[in-house]
Amino acid sequence: MTASIVVEHLTRRFGSFTAVDDVSFEVGRGEIFGYLGANGAGKTTTIRMLCGLVPPTAGDARVTGHSIGRHPEQVKQAIGYMSQRFSLYPELRVGENLSFFGGAYGLWGRGLRSRIDEVLELVDLVGHEHDRTSDLPGGMRQRVALAGAILHRPAVVFLDEPTAGVDPVARRRFWSLIRRLSAEGTTIFVTTHYMDEAEYCARVGLMVAGRLPALDSPAGLKATYVPGRVWSVQGPHLPRDTRARLSAVEGVTEVQSMGAGWRVRTEERVQAADLAGPLGPDAVATLDAATLEDVFLAVVNADAQKAGTARALGGA
Ligand code: ATP
Repeated sequence: MTASIVVEHLTRRFGSFTAVDDVSFEVGRGEIFGYLGANGAGKTTTIRMLCGLVPPTAGDARVTGHSIGRHPEQVKQAIGYMSQRFSLYPELRVGENLSFFGGAYGLWGRGLRSRIDEVLELVDLVGHEHDRTSDLPGGMRQRVALAGAILHRPAVVFLDEPTAGVDPVARRRFWSLIRRLSAEGTTIFVTTHYMDEAEYCARVGLMVAGRLPALDSPAGLKATYVPGRVWSVQGPHLPRDTRARLSAVEGVTEVQSMGAGWRVRTEERVQAADLAGPLGPDAVATLDAATLEDVFLAVVNADAQKAGTARALGGA
């Protein structure tokens, strides 16, 4: 893997609070790398350090070969950044916003003009150059912001919750753009709270309280953190005490209510009849796929347990 981003023991403290705690990982050229975590886990702080906007307290990272600690200005020129509250001027027209971005990266004249045409085509906004940005729906504004972030052909693009608050159709469209950029060799570092989007990433890092306890492909994370089987248990007349009956089956590790039915995690040895049997003739158990949401919950729970154990040991 040719690494575009190499992160080594990256740490950021604000006073006595550690927002990013000794994080290390690499991202390959052209990879779509997803960064997940609860609110306040440290994702934005990591991105802002990797963009050269916030200096690390300890550790370092190289982004396209430039050290974020020693050469943040070179990092800023080499990357594109779409922040959570992306920096479009709502009263400006789309083309004016893009000219502004281009100017900030040293593009001008005919070169800027033809590059704006190119990115408008790429993000499917041809014909909207003269639209006032504030008049556009959220999904289109997001594509303008992405266009601004890639105008100067950066090798790495950081996207901080780029699809927050837009509808599923617009999200899907945005992701097909991201995939196209990645296929052309652009490295994508993206944070999201949408687990379906995380599935599009080649690898996913999961942050918990400033640390990065899990990092793997979506399939690898599921195999590690959600071992065994996941079932969907349904039926028109399930008994009132279904949860208790399912929990009592040997090999069941977790029972969650889901819609009108139940989602059950079990060890490998458990069969459909073991789950449906105790619930009467109407019950049906079918194998379901583990999701990244299952992974997320498992990692957060494992971390909370570890923290509890450490506290207990510390207090003993
Ligand atoms: P979200 O999903 O809500 O965007 P996040 O994972 O991006 O969350 P960060 O924004 O990186 O989280 O914040 C991590 C922690 O660091 C939070 O507790 C936040 O309050 C704290 N923090 C961030 N910036 C500062 C700052 N400038 N001064 C003090 N604390 C800060």
